Amino acid sequence: MSVLQQAYNPNTLAKKGSQLIQLLTNHLKDSQLEAQKKTINWKNPEEQLAFWQQQSQSNQEATDIFKTILSNSINLHNPKYMGHQVAPTLPLAALAGLLSAYLNNGMAVYEMGATASALEKLIMQQICAQIGYDASSDGFITSGGTLANLTALLAARRQILKDDVWEQGSDKALAVMVSEEAHYCIDRAARIMGLGTKGIIKIPVDSEYRMQTELLEEKYIQATNQGLTVIAVIGSAPTTSTGIYDNLEAIADFCELHKLWFHVDGAHGGAVIYSKKYKNLVKGVNRADSVVIDGHKMMMMPSIMTFLAFKNKVHSYQTFNQKAQYLWESSEDEEWYNYAKRTFECTKSMMSIQFYIVQQTYGDTIFEEYVDTLYDLGKTFYQLVEEQDNLENFLRPDANIVCFRYTHKNLSQEQHNQINLKIRRAILEEGRFYIVQTLLNADNYLRVTLMNPFTSVKEIKELLEIIETLGNSFITQNT
Ligand SMILES: *Cc1c(COP(=O)(O)O)cnc(C)c1O
Repeated sequence: MSVLQQAYNPNTLAKKGSQLIQLLTNHLKDSQLEAQKKTINWKNPEEQLAFWQQQSQSNQEATDIFKTILSNSINLHNPKYMGHQVAPTLPLAALAGLLSAYLNNGMAVYEMGATASALEKLIMQQICAQIGYDASSDGFITSGGTLANLTALLAARRQILKDDVWEQGSDKALAVMVSEEAHYCIDRAARIMGLGTKGIIKIPVDSEYRMQTELLEEKYIQATNQGLTVIAVIGSAPTTSTGIYDNLEAIADFCELHKLWFHVDGAHGGAVIYSKKYKNLVKGVNRADSVVIDGHKMMMMPSIMTFLAFKNKVHSYQTFNQKAQYLWESSEDEEWYNYAKRTFECTKSMMSIQFYIVQQTYGDTIFEEYVDTLYDLGKTFYQLVEEQDNLENFLRPDANIVCFRYTHKNLSQEQHNQINLKIRRAILEEGRFYIVQTLLNADNYLRVTLMNPFTSVKEIKELLEIIETLGNSFITQNT
């Protein structure tokens, strides 16, 4: 048998497939057990590279390689994972991901992904309804919040600017207005669009870290006087570093008044549209021209999967007016089923099947339960930090993101910063827990995002005790 014949032999799939499923089952079981393994098996990048260089010489079987990858990858299914904003994938969604990888229906062109295209339409109709949009809305699924935000801002430019930028280019100096705390991908998108530093008007935040929407008018007049053409205002729902939601109603009012595009970056927390308890955080989202929601953050989907919804579906068709006649029957008609007309991707993975399987099996209730559990847990975490002598919160959280730090009356600002960096590093290297750090007002804070719905008070208390103990021991070493 040739290598190709061997590789495509159905028996290989059967054998390796059942072994992999067994490995994943054990991994999930272990993750939920009391005496769990580490969340992260930390090696610095050079050690990691050396490790894999050595592994690559060892001629292992696929199943052994699967095992080594599992034990050397950060474990999001461990309740002690409290790091970045990626969800522990729902097992059924992961299985659908395997189906997508196998079928490789490189949709975006209808014929290449008919089922996934129809499902995407159904899903987007439901998400638009959940946002509060009417029947003139629509959208699509795309590869990540970063790409979705860029796509939305391109749509904004197309709609707000009267010039035909696509054909003619433009000499106008364009600008967007956004909270100074917004995700860096907004800044990047604006620069890709050629707006430059002056085209990114940062609106300061208040003491609660919300955009000071009362400054929008003044900043807008300033920009206009400088010859800038403002096209859009972006609201964060919420911001990434502190998890604080901007006042979307106020931004909507402002955009309506000045006929600007209103975009909501709900990559992290747009999923609250499924929660009766928390959907007030995005009051006004139905007035946005476009909304981004990541599936791989607060909706338990595999990375990456992002919903981009448009209040007016016509707008979604006008962003890329490029003609590629060999792909489509007619590039003038709106064809919902040929997604490449509206998305960056040409080959696009079958993201919709992963979401569809979950929704059909568990209903929207699962999204509501997930959001409620984790946002409640954010409040619990905050409360437990309040109760510790040598820990302090940065802000009262809106979401499941909490920033806090170790503190001691004898420490200078510089020492505070050093000690918190050391604490975070020690936790990373020890590997039981995984948390991250962030810079707020030039000070180092510890940061958690509660992403695992099985994290409980017990794990949180254990983490906070470890942090206190580490902090105290570093102080003793210092003195
Ligand atoms: C995570 C995040 C993004 C980036 O999304 P990706 O899916 O990681 O590309 C953008 N905006 C906000 C507010 C985020 O939290």
